[in-house]
Amino acid sequence: MEECIFCKILNGDFGTEFVYENDYVAAFNDINPKAPVHVLVVPKVHIASLNELEDKNLMGELLSAVRAVAQKTGLKAYKTLINTGKEAGQEVFHLHLHVMGDK
Ligand code: 5GP
Ligand code: ZN
Repeated sequence: MEECIFCKILNGDFGTEFVYENDYVAAFNDINPKAPVHVLVVPKVHIASLNELEDKNLMGELLSAVRAVAQKTGLKAYKTLINTGKEAGQEVFHLHLHVMGDK
């Protein structure tokens, strides 16, 4: 997906530092944080939204990465959010899980 901003980030186009990464997912800081810690967890393959996510192993990887991000950033408590669809507030159509909290 050439025009997808998160695919470009995953491709290293902007030199974005990853908070967490494995073979399946990556996590990076939100550019416009709405909490002291606001990280986005994304699959490394382009999937537009939760509605297009078929791979149940990848579902597990995404949630597992949320927990890894929380541990790595020192969050004991955090909110996890997935916006699905424009009307629900999804702005970037590359699936992402928001991880938000305060240390
Ligand atoms: P959504 O509303 O789609 O659930 O969330 C999209 C999120 O992506 C927003 O919180 C927004 O601040 C973030 N975002 C948009 N463009 C960029 C970008 O280029 N880099 C980063 N790190 N975050 C972005
Ligand atoms: Zn993408």
